[in-house]
Amino acid sequence: MELARIFQLEARDGDARAGRLLLPHGEVPTPVFMPVGTRASVKTLDCRDLRELEITMLLGNSYHLYLRPGLEVMRGSGGLHPFMRWEGPILTDSGGFQVFSLGDLRKLKEEGAEFRSHLDGSRHLFTPESVVEIQRALGSDIMMQLDECPPGDCDEAYASASLELSARWALRARRAWEESRPLHGHPQALFPIVQGGVHDHLRRRSMELLLAHDWPGVAIGGLSVGEAKPDMRRITALCGRELPVDKPRYLMGVGTPEDILESIALGVDMFDCVLPTRNARKGTLFTSLGRVNARSARHAMAFDQPLDPACDCFTCRHYDRAHLRHLFHVEEISAMRLGTLHNLRYYLKLMEGARAAIRAGCYPAYLQACLAPYRTAAPVV
Ligand SMILES: [Zn+2]
Repeated sequence: MELARIFQLEARDGDARAGRLLLPHGEVPTPVFMPVGTRASVKTLDCRDLRELEITMLLGNSYHLYLRPGLEVMRGSGGLHPFMRWEGPILTDSGGFQVFSLGDLRKLKEEGAEFRSHLDGSRHLFTPESVVEIQRALGSDIMMQLDECPPGDCDEAYASASLELSARWALRARRAWEESRPLHGHPQALFPIVQGGVHDHLRRRSMELLLAHDWPGVAIGGLSVGEAKPDMRRITALCGRELPVDKPRYLMGVGTPEDILESIALGVDMFDCVLPTRNARKGTLFTSLGRVNARSARHAMAFDQPLDPACDCFTCRHYDRAHLRHLFHVEEISAMRLGTLHNLRYYLKLMEGARAAIRAGCYPAYLQACLAPYRTAAPVV
């Protein structure tokens, strides 16, 4: 087995945890937010930006990279790290979420998930074994098992059958992981994914099946997919209490600043979400003053006012709200880039503050202070 121990737990404040991931491409302080680099790029940014933002770990999408550029290119390039000129750790998803988002274009079988490419309609089959092979070609530090991602509103019977299938797939992925070798000279960890919808006993069943084996870490899937917020919090808390203390916990696809900070309080260590980058390209920016709509005419004359006075990002150091609003208004390409630089820096600083607060034993006060502007009835700006 590879990388059986990749996590050091260093401090706790209530259920919140601060620690360190020990990965082939570097150490990553946790809790960590991983920006999404879907197609071997964080949209609008380059590798110099990623370094200057002080990003510690990225997420890549197996589905997209499998289709384009494809495995031959990924193997030939030496893997995702040299291909995209990123030297830090990378986690790759299994492609399951993208495949199940295809709706009518996919078909589920015991063997795996059959789907038609969203690009050209060509037929493909993802199996637990083939997605390990894909992630071997990508050379990520952490690979994910193929799982079924049932819709957030599915009934109990569906959620039950689905988690059993995902657990069988986890064991098949595990065997493929144990029986294959890394292609790019460094070991790769594999995480299983806890499913079971919003049902406590199904989540417990999923954990029971998966945790009969030792894994480097565990992911919590099937949340933030349309379920009610109290359900999401309850299931996160349940997993936070019952997952092994000495393994990193990764809550997939979450989320807003509020969801992330609340989930850290419930014991989660790792996050990824397209929200800061996708919203940035549309002009929705996250700041220490709350959410800001950069397109709003109210910024038209806001000369010498940075987007966020508390932010040290390139955008906030060099531009005022008036210029930023103009760029978004006329749809300049640079608007998307400047917005992305800011939103990612805001998320990274939010996590840095969370780690410091957990170590100082004042995480609940930190959470309240950060979220207060987001909870006021009317946006500040
Ligand atoms: Zn900024």
